[in-house]
Amino acid sequence: MTGVTVLFPELASEIDARLSSLHRIVDTLHEVVEGTRQESPIFNISIFETRAGAISTMRKLYSELQKLTAIVVKNGAAAEALHREELKAAQEGLNRAQSQAADGARLAIDRQPEAARPTWSKITSINEPVAPCRAVATPITPAPVVVRGPVRVVGNIVVDALILPLTLKSVPEIFAAVVPGDLCYIPHWNHFAVRIGGCVLHANLGCIYRGAPSRGTEKPECVKECRRAKCTGGAECRYYHDPENFAGSTDVRNFMADSWYYTPAASPARYGTRRIGSAGDIEADIRAISLDEARRFLHQTAHDVLCALILWQHVLAPAQRQKTTETSAPKMSGKVCP
Ligand SMILES: [Zn+2]
Repeated sequence: MTGVTVLFPELASEIDARLSSLHRIVDTLHEVVEGTRQESPIFNISIFETRAGAISTMRKLYSELQKLTAIVVKNGAAAEALHREELKAAQEGLNRAQSQAADGARLAIDRQPEAARPTWSKITSINEPVAPCRAVATPITPAPVVVRGPVRVVGNIVVDALILPLTLKSVPEIFAAVVPGDLCYIPHWNHFAVRIGGCVLHANLGCIYRGAPSRGTEKPECVKECRRAKCTGGAECRYYHDPENFAGSTDVRNFMADSWYYTPAASPARYGTRRIGSAGDIEADIRAISLDEARRFLHQTAHDVLCALILWQHVLAPAQRQKTTETSAPKMSGKVCP
């Protein structure tokens, strides 16, 4: 039994007692009032007695009202304090349970063997409401705060995206927050991301170098992934540092124009061309493609998806809206009715 359930009957009985007392005083007051009305204009000692009685009754009334006010103030304050205390204790208990559950979920992720990591997407989903807390054994992941807003890609080019919170630190946490069907922005990577099936594609808009650079011009950078042992990903390294592998990297991968040019893996391919994508050769190509090339293809696809969404938001969707407006507007005949 909590204090609240005991407190209120006590309060109620005290108030009840005071109200009964007040009723008695009010009855007395009625008698005094009636007595005053019946007073004779002729001097009578009873006038003073009646008046003295009225004054005494009103003093009692004042005293009882003060007591009643004191009871209400005291019990009201006590009830409020108890309410605050119990709410605080309940909130602390809930916080503890959530934190233990989140620790449990993190532990479960850490204990997963490497091959089982693709199941991360099942652990958290930003669109799912937080489950009510029933037991510590039920994993509770507080939903991260995700906002939608315009994100500048380059120059005046802005796209609408879901901006993931900076509180998401690890790659699994970030990947789990990339919801399917939307463009997400990972601010601490400076990358946009989309999820298609289990695959998370992420990139920002890179530069495309056309052909071999002439002497004296700036050498292409970030066109290949860094494979240097112990590289810290600093500005002195000209390779691309994928934030998946280099914590804190905000590198944007660039490409050579040739990497969109398809040549089958089986053919004497030009260096750096695209080696997969044609139906007739895909079975042979998939056997020949290297992991580096496969990763580059995914990075290129992410780059292309971002380009496609920029085109959609800036060119195609406005054109479609314009067309809808034109077709829904009333047609003017051009003729003036007589
Ligand atoms: Zn490097």
